[in-house]
Amino acid sequence: MIIVIRNDAKQQDIDQLKSYVQSQGLRIHESEGASTTILGLVGDTSKVDIDLLRSINIVETVTRVQEPYKNANRKFHPQDSVIKVGDTQIGGGAFSLIAGPCSVETPEQIVGIAKAVKKAGATMLRGGAFKPRTSPYSFQGLGVEGLKLLLIAKKETGLPIVTELMDTRDIPAFEDVDVIQIGARNMQNFTLLKEVGKLHKPVLLKRGLSATIEEWLMSAEYIMSEGNEQIVLCERGIRTYEPATRNTLDLSCIPLLHEKTHLPVIVDPSHASGLSRLVAPMSLAATAAGADGLIIEVHNDPQHAWCDGPQAITPEQFEGIVDGVKKILPIVGKRL
Ligand code: PEP
Ligand code: MN
Repeated sequence: MIIVIRNDAKQQDIDQLKSYVQSQGLRIHESEGASTTILGLVGDTSKVDIDLLRSINIVETVTRVQEPYKNANRKFHPQDSVIKVGDTQIGGGAFSLIAGPCSVETPEQIVGIAKAVKKAGATMLRGGAFKPRTSPYSFQGLGVEGLKLLLIAKKETGLPIVTELMDTRDIPAFEDVDVIQIGARNMQNFTLLKEVGKLHKPVLLKRGLSATIEEWLMSAEYIMSEGNEQIVLCERGIRTYEPATRNTLDLSCIPLLHEKTHLPVIVDPSHASGLSRLVAPMSLAATAAGADGLIIEVHNDPQHAWCDGPQAITPEQFEGIVDGVKKILPIVGKRL
């Protein structure tokens, strides 16, 4: 971190700032030019309050040279993180295919879809029991009953389950869930992040609706700083000015994230596009861009889905995507 001091600063104030910085456990590398003094802060600056430094009268600018996230940073953990879920893994060359409905509806629906996606090549089953809906009048999910149905589908197929947690009070009910999803709307629910950080369970952390890559990684950092390092990042599209698709899929974040972090990155082309006919091309594009997996909404009867029908694809369409993905994986050095 570099602090440029205003050229009208009094020595007494500079000394006071230096003592403050040192009290934060940092060393100072000072460079005094003809008119400008620059303080280089040496040490772990991840806990430094940059806004507080910027607010000090004698400070002209403060620039970070090190990222504010540490646990998630590839600089401190060069090897890819590999997240193990049941017999499968995500990251480190292993590609994961998560498929299932937006929400769990009935035993027949979830078990039927689970069997169909497994047959097509899925490695995990998704399905929401607690649904974050824009309208309070929309179907909110079956709740704990939905979790029970997911466990039945898991028993029938052997597929590990991924499902969203919205409230810390529901954590006990998630004991048998394999991967906890933190949805886009809760990416910055810091209380929730800290609580899942205390669990010994993989977390699928979706990107917030308008979150920058750094904000997203700081949310991962919240979870990791509590001890849980099993995190999978999920790009699910961001809000832009373009209304033709539900969101805008930011594919460029995949290679960028691979540089910045060792955590695996998967893509949700369903919420990103909102349109079932765009799911296949965007799945293949995400695979080619280096994603470590896909999470796709699949429904046996999209037209009658209780939630997100317009973006749901059928098991047959999912099978087509799996075929395409299998062709791309050797080119990007990954395997199913
Ligand atoms: C979901 O996965 O069903 C969901 C609600 O996703 P997101 O949080 O990305 O909107
Ligand atoms: Mn959905």
